[in-house]
Amino acid sequence: MYSSSKATMQTEQLVDQYSRTISYLRLSITDRCNLRCLYCMPQQGLNSSSLVKCADLLSYEEMLRIVGIAVGMGMNKLRLTGGEPLVRNGVMDFIRSLAEIKGLEDIRLTTNGVLLHEKAAELYSAGIRNLNISLDTMKPKRFVEITGSDLFDQVWRGIQTACDLGFNVKLNMVAMKGINDDEFADFARLATQRPVQVRFIEFMPIGNKESWDRSRFISAGELKDIFSTLGTLESSPGSRLEGPARVYRLTTPDGQTGRIGFISPISHHFCDKCNRLRLTSEGRLRACLLHDHETDLKTILRQGGTDSDIQAAIRQTILSKPKGHTLQDDLAGPGQVNCQGQMSRIGG
Ligand code: SAM
Ligand code: SF4
Repeated sequence: MYSSSKATMQTEQLVDQYSRTISYLRLSITDRCNLRCLYCMPQQGLNSSSLVKCADLLSYEEMLRIVGIAVGMGMNKLRLTGGEPLVRNGVMDFIRSLAEIKGLEDIRLTTNGVLLHEKAAELYSAGIRNLNISLDTMKPKRFVEITGSDLFDQVWRGIQTACDLGFNVKLNMVAMKGINDDEFADFARLATQRPVQVRFIEFMPIGNKESWDRSRFISAGELKDIFSTLGTLESSPGSRLEGPARVYRLTTPDGQTGRIGFISPISHHFCDKCNRLRLTSEGRLRACLLHDHETDLKTILRQGGTDSDIQAAIRQTILSKPKGHTLQDDLAGPGQVNCQGQMSRIGG
């Protein structure tokens, strides 16, 4: 069923054709969301033809089976994302079941924070310790403009609750010229005043592509220059262990310190260190966010596939993982980007 490849698979570690060890699975548990961030979804929401049909969403049982098999093959880190993972019914029981998978060392969650205030304690007791929370503005009116909902206060309460409970919190801000670039200093201050790391992400032309244009893009290099004017930036030891972010310690002129990071999928892509696979909300395994090739695990599963069939499909996907994406070149050319997928379906 699956063609063989010149590259070899190791039994203990999953290694691709470019010697990258694949250990990290990102799981979009739903493509539904309670916000409509301008860069991700149209303001009116996705129409029914773009949403995954309920029957096509992977069930929790199906996700557990796939994760169990992937962990048995050597993957040990999982991130739940979406869409908004906390809107799916039964998510807490699902997380508790995941936590029982032997060999799965680390389960993390990315959330918009809307439901965090009510769910943070349960998440903590289910074993989650690391939260990435998306926050693009600290101005309530602007929050409505960016997300379509007047929920800033609720999200802020969620962030505070998460900090108070002792979660390791990273705040992710998509940096957009003319939209939130006047708030960088406020976000830097937040990193010095609260126990959070603030990460600035380059705005990518995927998701709701209509909202992207070059004039809104700020590269990580430009961001770093801007932050250098706010204080001293020192490269943070061990930052290579923190995934795609380049992390710095910022010391402000009044002696306050905080940790900030830059995530530069476009200007300095981190493809050579990429250790991830993504499982979309309808069960398609994807080797790269920015390449549309996917392996349909759900069909294999629903047609009675054995664990070996699933393992073979996972191996094949890993072996097909491209060396890197070409977003920067695509954007320099006529502008056609290789990724047509919905961010919420793929899992951002
Ligand atoms: N709903 C959750 C949230 O917002 O945190 C999880 C899913 S969301 C798709 C994951 C991350 O992708 C968010 O931090 C969001 O800011 C980021 N994202 C979505 N579209 C993006 C784009 N076009 N450029 C850069 N980041 C994007
Ligand atoms: Fe929802 Fe997250 Fe997309 Fe915003 S970025 S619309 S919160 S999935």
